Amino acid sequence: MTAIAARLADVRARIARAAGRAGRDPASVRLIAVSKTFPVEHVREAAAAGQIDFGENKVQEALPKIDAFRSGGGAPDVRWHLIGHLQSNKAKKAGASFDAVHSVDSASLLQRIDEGAATAGSHVDLLVQVDLAGEATKFGARESELKEIFAAAELAKHVSVVGLMLLPPAVEDPEGARPYFRELIAVRKRLLDQGIDPRMLDELSMGMSQDFEVAVEEGATMVRVGSAIFGHRTYSGV
Ligand SMILES: *Cc1c(COP(=O)(O)O)cnc(C)c1O
Repeated sequence: MTAIAARLADVRARIARAAGRAGRDPASVRLIAVSKTFPVEHVREAAAAGQIDFGENKVQEALPKIDAFRSGGGAPDVRWHLIGHLQSNKAKKAGASFDAVHSVDSASLLQRIDEGAATAGSHVDLLVQVDLAGEATKFGARESELKEIFAAAELAKHVSVVGLMLLPPAVEDPEGARPYFRELIAVRKRLLDQGIDPRMLDELSMGMSQDFEVAVEEGATMVRVGSAIFGHRTYSGV
């Protein structure tokens, strides 16, 4: 077993235990292996160990990697998720190349991704990144801005909003993230109460290497795990 395969097995086991503690089915949690800053060989190694979903945070870094993976005969069922901030001038390209984008924070960005997906004849799953009030992060939509994004999604043909994404501020220990995860769930509940289509609120993308077990306990359906699988990054990749 390779080092990456061993770490993947360990992360999957920890997800299963966290799901068990919360009385959840482990199969309801999708593991996204965040391969940013790592070469395509690492992706191949993980895919050979059965990993399906991969996350990248920069369009310009990801596109050559995706091409190299596909042209190298990489497993056709592999799915690519863009998890990092997306600039509007790269949104069409992202829409044409990724299977999912987790960082949608405006109606105009959604529309550009839709155009890119239309050009490529593809369909992209979108998650709306939420900036919880009072948070010091730069990106994400405020709760008051979400309705406009959902309205734009209803008109789009090549993208579907499937849920919400959270990137909480860095905290010292995993428990520090728990209140943020709970707040995202509270936001979701308020949106459901306001009559937003539940299909647009199915998924909750939250939890990273440091705190994915807490996120699973709280209800994450997608966890984005990088360093716990691929090892330490020599630069942040942010
Ligand atoms: C890098 C990154 C991750 C994964 O971080 P790790 O701490 O390596 O697990 C998750 N989400 C986003 C948005 C990221 O940029």
